[in-house]
Amino acid sequence: MTPRDVLDLMAKNNVEMVDFRIVDVPGRQHHVTIPAVEVTEDMLENGVAFDGSSIQGFRSIENSDMVMKPILDTAFVDPFYAVPTLGLMCQVYEPNGTRYDRDPRYIAEKAESYLQKLGIATHANFGPELEFFLFDDVRFDASSQGAFYSIDSEEAMWNTGRAEGPNLAYKVKNKAGYFPVPPTDRQQDIRTEIVLELMKAGLRVERHHHEVATAGQAEINFRFSTLTKTADNTMLYKYIVRQVAYKHGKVATFMPKPIYGDNGSGMHVHQSLFNGDDPLFYQEGGYGNISDLAKHYIAGILTHAPAVLAFSNPSTNSYKRLVPGYEAPVNLVFSKGNRSAAIRLPIASVSPKAVRIEFRTPDATSNPYLAFSAMLMAGLDGIRRKLDPTELGFGPIDKNIYELSKEEKQQIQSVPSSFEESLAALENDHEFLLEGGVFSKDFIYNWINLKRATEIEPLNLRPHPYEFQLYLDL
Ligand code: GLN
Ligand code: MG
Ligand code: MG
Ligand code: MG
Repeated sequence: MTPRDVLDLMAKNNVEMVDFRIVDVPGRQHHVTIPAVEVTEDMLENGVAFDGSSIQGFRSIENSDMVMKPILDTAFVDPFYAVPTLGLMCQVYEPNGTRYDRDPRYIAEKAESYLQKLGIATHANFGPELEFFLFDDVRFDASSQGAFYSIDSEEAMWNTGRAEGPNLAYKVKNKAGYFPVPPTDRQQDIRTEIVLELMKAGLRVERHHHEVATAGQAEINFRFSTLTKTADNTMLYKYIVRQVAYKHGKVATFMPKPIYGDNGSGMHVHQSLFNGDDPLFYQEGGYGNISDLAKHYIAGILTHAPAVLAFSNPSTNSYKRLVPGYEAPVNLVFSKGNRSAAIRLPIASVSPKAVRIEFRTPDATSNPYLAFSAMLMAGLDGIRRKLDPTELGFGPIDKNIYELSKEEKQQIQSVPSSFEESLAALENDHEFLLEGGVFSKDFIYNWINLKRATEIEPLNLRPHPYEFQLYLDL
């Protein structure tokens, strides 16, 4: 798209406002809105100024002037505003015209150029599967064993034995949400509405369904694409899911473990490398029909997983999901079809082009630009060093890992058990991210310090509701 095309698109849709958007370091979207009559070709080319000092992870106050420049191909008509509005994702620039080093999207773009420079592949495909909960409200209740749940999701109350509502019919038990038809599934229509909005915004949606947890957990899948494009799509997806939910008086949350004792929400990430049309992860005959290149990539991800998780599972809540018994991975192994492994090779993929790996650890509290880039960099390091997953003790293991014997479990590595642990792993293991200048040391230390100072430390200092259950009478 050229600036002219965008102006034409605006005219065609009677656009009255244009919304310029950027993504901050943790992964939240921010916007500034300009009346369409003020938007010129020059502005679409050179961007608009904003104050970088108020954006988490960006600039300090002394040095705050920054520019957001729209990526014209991301233009979409936003259906959630009162007047026709065009949304545009932007790249962040310094006032002197250079790219801003802490713009997460810049890192994703650099990761893709690095892949091409290595000459291994023309592109990497990424396909995330985001799960989320739709709640009627979110309240915090000390007696519910520290769980968040919805006051109107009677299921949650029913499951904790605290239901007071009059009608318990068609309620979904914990882990029984996958996937009875309505009236048990009461969110069919809202999911369909989300899907229709996603499609209007330009995403190709493959399916939607109720997810395993009690009423209100959903999954909607959009089609894979290249790394940065998929991260853009992920931001758009989260925006639309939240907006449709909000319109209906509901809260959509991608928090990985909102309900104690039930499945959490993941963001499994399917990945493969291609040379043009040639699928580089496919090799007829071996385990899972994957190539040696795919095995090296797997070994790279699993070797660096503790550090990668600092980007792919970047919240204190993330580690409450990565526990046995809820279809979330706990061990660093790969396997065919096995959902308890960190990396699964979907055996349902029949055609060579569909052969891929599914990294099941990530969740959607991650900034997709950073999480996908970190995974790619780890995989590429495995390829560069020709790492072998089996020699490194990463399987394959085809048994249910939750049920292995103690001896068997001792042979395999676990995912980090806390965010503190994965940040410490990142502090010790980040050379692979610096290759080709994709991540900078400044970015990594900024990330570690930001997360420690704004999430881990404040949480540790606060009394937790469950502590009242444990200690109030002690
Ligand atoms: N919700 C599970 C997770 O936390 C996955 C369930 C599934 O997709 N089979 O990853
Ligand atoms: Mg799925
Ligand atoms: Mg799922
Ligand atoms: Mg999956």
